[in-house]
Amino acid sequence: MPELPEVETIVRGLNKVVIGTRIIDIWTDWPRHFSRHCGGFEQFKKQVKGLRIKKIKRIGKNIIFELSSDRNILLHLKMTGRLLLVETINLSKSDFDNIDHYIHTVFCLSEGKSLAFSDVRKFGKILSEHKDDFYEISDIKKLGKDALTINYEEFKKVLSNKKIPIKYILLNQKVIAGIGNIYADEILFLSGVHPLRMVKSLSEKELKKIYDSIRIILIKAIKLRGSSMSDYKDIKGKLGNYFQVRLIYRRGGESCLKCKTKISRIKLRGRSMHFCKNCQK
Ligand SMILES: [Zn+2]
Repeated sequence: MPELPEVETIVRGLNKVVIGTRIIDIWTDWPRHFSRHCGGFEQFKKQVKGLRIKKIKRIGKNIIFELSSDRNILLHLKMTGRLLLVETINLSKSDFDNIDHYIHTVFCLSEGKSLAFSDVRKFGKILSEHKDDFYEISDIKKLGKDALTINYEEFKKVLSNKKIPIKYILLNQKVIAGIGNIYADEILFLSGVHPLRMVKSLSEKELKKIYDSIRIILIKAIKLRGSSMSDYKDIKGKLGNYFQVRLIYRRGGESCLKCKTKISRIKLRGRSMHFCKNCQK
């Protein structure tokens, strides 16, 4: 699933190419992309057709399009979603199939551009809401502070006394938004903290180390334009480069970069975790 660095890369890319364009039309062969919250596809189309894209931003792993007439679109890529900029409009379904077989929704924009939403597993989510009510929708309201902008005091506060392993806290979007499985493993390796350590047992020094590692890893991953391990590519189809320089994620069985101990991989609650039992206490 695209995590904060991948979504941030997409948002930065979009801000360079679609600001000021107008949504001329929307096509889909998978209306279930469109949340019933806003009345489904037909209603969504009525709400946003003709509006201009003013700004694109990220909240957690959500992509937010700020439009004219004070309307916002929320798009969540979920497991396998990708946004693709196509420098043309009025393409047929077969044209899109030639570009990417998994394109299921297309925003036709002014200035001869289209934004195609490719989604292998079709879990992606799109909805629109008026700006005044936007922050009340559960997708946004339930999110914790953003992993990139949370300050240390806030970080300590949301973690305080939790009797939950640190790995699960980092993955919980209601506590901290933006981190997924790849970067949680990377952050904990850099911190020297075992993924199953109870948050309650962490010392001040360890908490600070984790907080600093979140910033170091995420900033590095954004600089490298994210991780292309499975489906992720940026809007121009370019791969991200973080996966090639990762510290521990999906290196089970290989030697630890710091101490040469064999890296452990375990699976718990459907989540894999990679760690070094020597370096991470
Ligand atoms: Zn090690």
